[in-house]
Amino acid sequence: MSPRARTLVYVVAAALAVALVLALPLGEYLVKLLLQAASYAIAVLGLTVLLGYTGQISLAQAAFFGLGAYGVALGTTTLGLGFLAALILGLVVATLFGIALGSSTLKLGGHYLAMVTISFQQILTLVLTNWISVTGGPDGIRNIARPHLPGIDFENNQVYLAACLALLFAVGGLVALLKSRRLGLAMQAVRDNELAAGVVGINTFRVKIIAFALSALLGGLGGGMFAGAFRYISPDQFAFDDSVVLLTMVLLGGVEAAIGAAIGAGLLILLPEWLRFLKQFYLAVYGAAVILIMVFLPAGIWGLFSRHRVWKPAAPIGPLELDIEAAAGTLLSVRGLAKHFGGVRAVDGVDLDIAQGSVHALIGPNGSGKTTLLNVLSGIYRPTAGSITLNARAVAGLAPHVLAAAGIGRTFQNIRLFHSLSALDNVIIGAERPGSGIAHRAAATARALAALGFVGMAERAGELAASLPYGHQRLVEIARALAGHPVLLLLDEPAAGLNLTEKQELVELLKRLRGHGLTILLIEHDMDLVEQVADRITVLNFGRHIADGSPAEVLRHPEVIAAYLGEVPSHEAA
Ligand code: ADP
Ligand code: MG
Repeated sequence: MSPRARTLVYVVAAALAVALVLALPLGEYLVKLLLQAASYAIAVLGLTVLLGYTGQISLAQAAFFGLGAYGVALGTTTLGLGFLAALILGLVVATLFGIALGSSTLKLGGHYLAMVTISFQQILTLVLTNWISVTGGPDGIRNIARPHLPGIDFENNQVYLAACLALLFAVGGLVALLKSRRLGLAMQAVRDNELAAGVVGINTFRVKIIAFALSALLGGLGGGMFAGAFRYISPDQFAFDDSVVLLTMVLLGGVEAAIGAAIGAGLLILLPEWLRFLKQFYLAVYGAAVILIMVFLPAGIWGLFSRHRVWKPAAPIGPLELDIEAAAGTLLSVRGLAKHFGGVRAVDGVDLDIAQGSVHALIGPNGSGKTTLLNVLSGIYRPTAGSITLNARAVAGLAPHVLAAAGIGRTFQNIRLFHSLSALDNVIIGAERPGSGIAHRAAATARALAALGFVGMAERAGELAASLPYGHQRLVEIARALAGHPVLLLLDEPAAGLNLTEKQELVELLKRLRGHGLTILLIEHDMDLVEQVADRITVLNFGRHIADGSPAEVLRHPEVIAAYLGEVPSHEAA
């Protein structure tokens, strides 16, 4: 089905569902359950974006749900606002808190971030319970208003439910669309490999803040609709356990797709009703059912039905145009560069000049600081000392995405692809980086396909990165770097783990790149390969530069021979 046809089917299905809810005699009790499920599902969609797409954990979604609910409650009672104005107020407050929480990701990740979200959740519960003059305290707030629109009777629960469902379908559709947009791809890149995401030009901090903001916004939206639905709220509805329930819903339904949120919310609201006949065993069976589903379906219930569709290009793909400006002189100049880790002087006062259009090899025994040097050049580490000049611009200490925009592309010694995305999406993310001059998806796709074609991987564009053989993953990583219009390509042991045929293909690829005038800094252990492609060689040992020159000169250098004596070049990952 084409995307347009899919959208049409979705809209028709949504309209049908809303019409059914309006037309069928559902009974007050079922309507209440569905109201709860629909408002929860909207909040759970926030977790789809935050946890599913971006890989960030939050145990505070009930707090944002509460902020939206209290916005509507206080807005329509104490402040005397209309429903919509009160809802917007709640959403603004929730989103601002979401941004604040997201900014803690600058310093924290993983478990620490989870703890910060728990603290936020607990603080909100304390405030809602104890700030009685404003929130009404544990007694909660009554007589919450619903929207007033001429001709629509929102006082009728079934009509209000239809509105909630329409909103859920709209939000769900947008969240589903987000996944394949530029922002959604950037989120998934951050989730799959944050380090690589920065290096291909994504401002990872900004992406995480946006994810937290969107998640908080949707949490607030669900909460606002919930407050209108039940017209009475109290702090115990937005406590830590409710955050756990919301998280369970998204994991149960499936974090990967928007529809997982609806499945999870629906199931966890309805399951207790279905299990009611079990009487006193109900909680045990309910808990066991949830645990079993999560253990045996790690991708959630939706994971059972979703398949990666292998995509094939419709038409043959043109070659990559590497429009490199042919200029003479030094492209990259490094002076006195140092990177120390405590007492370890990984890089210790290195000078390096890379001529425009040359292939410059960086060799040295294991642990001599080659990868660390590359990490400093690509912004992953800030240098301890020294300067880096790219095209006469001082670039030392800039963030990875800024250096990517300045034209530094790289691959990693241990491959860092976005493993749950297709090869094509990996390379599209590379193509869309700022500075690459690509603004539209069609142009990015064309460039990505051309880059894949350049490395001989166009045929496998639609396959999942993780399912490609090792050698092909290396090529896709090179294509991802090429797609972003680099002026300097940094390759960290690209031949490691390749068989002889693949190595020879890599040599041909490197020669073709040099033929196009691309400047390359190549870390490589395989001296045979280095001799075939390098114009110059720099040798590191113990973080220091020990020799520099043409391959013939350097490989005869006594210090180089000494450094390599007994050293069998190996391909272990650092
Ligand atoms: P190479 O790529 O030449 O094999 P590396 O740059 O990976 O060498 O490592 C150089 C030295 O720096 C090694 O002694 C390594 O243990 C150390 N090192 C690298 N990264 C770190 C880090 N993040 N923290 C502490 N030490 C590090
Ligand atoms: Mg290394």
